[in-house]
Amino acid sequence: MAIRIKAAPPGERKLKWWERLYFPAILSGLGYTLGRIFKRKFTVQYPEEPIILGPEFRGRPVLVAENGKERCVACGLCARVCPPFAIHMQAAETEDPKERYPAVFEINMLRCIYCGLCEEVCPEEAIVMSPEYDFVFRSREAAIYTKERLLVERKDLEPRLKWLAKMRNPQFGKRYRFRITNNVHSVKARSMVKEGYEEVY
Ligand code: SF4
Ligand code: SF4
Repeated sequence: MAIRIKAAPPGERKLKWWERLYFPAILSGLGYTLGRIFKRKFTVQYPEEPIILGPEFRGRPVLVAENGKERCVACGLCARVCPPFAIHMQAAETEDPKERYPAVFEINMLRCIYCGLCEEVCPEEAIVMSPEYDFVFRSREAAIYTKERLLVERKDLEPRLKWLAKMRNPQFGKRYRFRITNNVHSVKARSMVKEGYEEVY
């Protein structure tokens, strides 16, 4: 049986004869391309060219290190809030002013969904979203990042930390000002800050 193609539905504009040649549409497309040739290009030849992302980008979560030591006080909030249970940690005691540290801290990158909730709840700015986005693993075991692989020196995370501080102030209105001393949570560390102990953080 022959297939009948229905005419355009009522109300739909009929193409003029010169529009049906499609040349105007082709010329208009070529004109647009020519117009864009000398404008700023957004295409990046990845992976030969690196993509530089702003501090608001959420890449892989990392632990903030200061002089090679993690800032983390092993409170467990990040592991508790993580929706896909990607974080595993075990707390232990230390003689340092912060009193507790994570003896084990692991993030399963196959589970992580880069939501940033761990960063949001951390009271110590000890876990932040880094700009790193291109990482690969060849086995499930390799996707579990241990503490040693997660630690990144604070100076390398400054853009993100500054952006976080800028974003936090407006959350609480004009009367709130984010201070690094807000992050000193252990009783011992607070008393040392009061006594002018500058080395705590
Ligand atoms: S970014 Fe989200 S999913 Fe990934 S470790 Fe943090 S809380 Fe879990
Ligand atoms: S929320 Fe912050 S301080 Fe608490 S365990 Fe996680 S990284 Fe450490």
